[in-house]
Amino acid sequence: MKFTYESYADMIKHLGNMEYQFADYRSWKDSEKSVILRHDVDYSLQKAAEFSGIEREMGVQSTYFVLLSTNFYNVHSLKSKNYIRQIMDNGGKIGLHFDETQYDIHTEEELEKCLYGEAEILSDITGVETGVVSMHRPSEKFLSENRKFGHIINSYGKLYFNEMKYLSDSRRNWRENVDEIIRQGTYWRLHILIHPFWYFAGYERDMKHTLKGAIFNASLQYYDELGDNFSNLGEEVGRDEIEILLKG
Ligand SMILES: [Zn+2]
Repeated sequence: MKFTYESYADMIKHLGNMEYQFADYRSWKDSEKSVILRHDVDYSLQKAAEFSGIEREMGVQSTYFVLLSTNFYNVHSLKSKNYIRQIMDNGGKIGLHFDETQYDIHTEEELEKCLYGEAEILSDITGVETGVVSMHRPSEKFLSENRKFGHIINSYGKLYFNEMKYLSDSRRNWRENVDEIIRQGTYWRLHILIHPFWYFAGYERDMKHTLKGAIFNASLQYYDELGDNFSNLGEEVGRDEIEILLKG
């Protein structure tokens, strides 16, 4: 599978052809053959919103896990809220992507306190009760524990790995041939994690170019944000100066 929007749309088409029902973390048991599509939004809500547009066009739903404690985006900014709204308008569900390393956590109670706190903030932003959480870079310890968080489903619960075939493109690497597995239809339950960050419309970028492009765009975005706060920015530093600097 290529890391393009078109390949992703093809994957959805193939899943449909193989009669997988597109489900979420609660509805997956309702049909005989189902797939949970899941996205971790590690870097860019904009990219996630674009991805949700593909899903809307294909008439399917998925779950987007959003970080609250990242330095890459701020869920409280209007821009971020608009992207989250766009994802929801496109039919996407929003879950909490939780990074336990952002806190000084020693006990289960402390973990729960921090996690419930973030879930509540996310509920306020989405207007919908946060019903599912995925851990950002979960520790081996966490993965082995099969933790429960009250009414909030843990997407790393054993159920979603033992009862379902789990496939992931983490670090831009499918460890197994996802197209082949869908085509064979051997597994009646699929749980697929896709990071929109690696995908582009119309063409594919390798890891180096994806990373370079992201750094380039982030720098220009910083410039633009600075310009919104500092009216004479262009007189001091031209946008073209930054572009030349980055391209050089
Ligand atoms: Zn993550």
